[in-house]
Amino acid sequence: MPDPIPFFDGHNDFLLRLLKSASARSETWLGDAGQGHLDLGRMRQSGFAGGLFAIFVPPVPSGPPVDFMAQMANPPYAIPFPPLMEHGTAQPTALAMAGLLHWMERAAPDDFKVCRTVEQMRAAMDQGVIAGVMHMEGAEAIGPDLDALYLFHDMGLRSLGPVWSRPTIFGHGVPMAFPGTPDTGPGLTEKGKDLVRLCDRLGIMIDLSHLNEAGFNDVAAISTAPLVATHSNAHALCPSPRNLTDRQLHMIRERGGMVGFNFATFYLNADGTSAPDIGWETMLRQLDHMIAEVGEDHVGLGSDFDGCIVPRCIGDVTGVPALFRAMADHGYDAALIQKLAQDNWLACLDRVLH
Ligand code: ZN
Repeated sequence: MPDPIPFFDGHNDFLLRLLKSASARSETWLGDAGQGHLDLGRMRQSGFAGGLFAIFVPPVPSGPPVDFMAQMANPPYAIPFPPLMEHGTAQPTALAMAGLLHWMERAAPDDFKVCRTVEQMRAAMDQGVIAGVMHMEGAEAIGPDLDALYLFHDMGLRSLGPVWSRPTIFGHGVPMAFPGTPDTGPGLTEKGKDLVRLCDRLGIMIDLSHLNEAGFNDVAAISTAPLVATHSNAHALCPSPRNLTDRQLHMIRERGGMVGFNFATFYLNADGTSAPDIGWETMLRQLDHMIAEVGEDHVGLGSDFDGCIVPRCIGDVTGVPALFRAMADHGYDAALIQKLAQDNWLACLDRVLH
């Protein structure tokens, strides 16, 4: 196997860190300060060959800023939903983040390319250029007429979660809570159903990761595309509402979809804590379960880098090669590791995008 093994990552929040870094954006993308989980140098060193880059508009606090990480540190917890955000509030930030993805290409044209098709992704990755795919986590930036979706699609949007963990005009996310199930409320609104149909028509993948179970079922009923959760784990081993029940995993398998294995400690630790002292055995137990329930052709990575606390054994993107070595030591053969690293994601995107 090549060293490092090239991999495709189903979810990261690097664009949010880039947005927050304001005038230091060149340093954040191209520098070597080692902040956060991702930057170009460490991605290259680790085999990061491509991935979905999330546009995510953070909640606007009505009072002091909300520290979700601190509130989630000591289960049980149930954090109230942030309020619904109007598209007029969300759009400027979403546009800035879409712009930042394109800026990343301009700043490093030999190393990074915004890709709109799987052919472009494969061509970039074959040439050692990182394939960046635009994803939106929570559709707040799309107004009720849905017209903005055409523009974001033109900008490169190929994957969209109708909700993050807060309500939108399209549906309801699961709360930040532990323990809990994904069965937390009503499904998609009529506008949400229209959004799913338009995504199907345009060839935009629907991301189920933050949707509640009724919304998940609605997407399954309305969309004809494979069912995909870009960054979620198995509820059977970590009962967070953000993780998928075995029933959901079976539906994803039947529909030829994908689950991206999430590195976030909140969704790995059986007790729901953020404690980073997780050994490979906890991560591999999750992977074993997901592979058993959803099938080895339907699991990939969905790191959540720069959006979560990751196990100390991973640390940042430079820990991914060690995860592949742990898989090999655990008995996964080269063909399976290759599927988990990138083949499954590319095959799934091939089935979804058109
Ligand atoms: Zn997320």
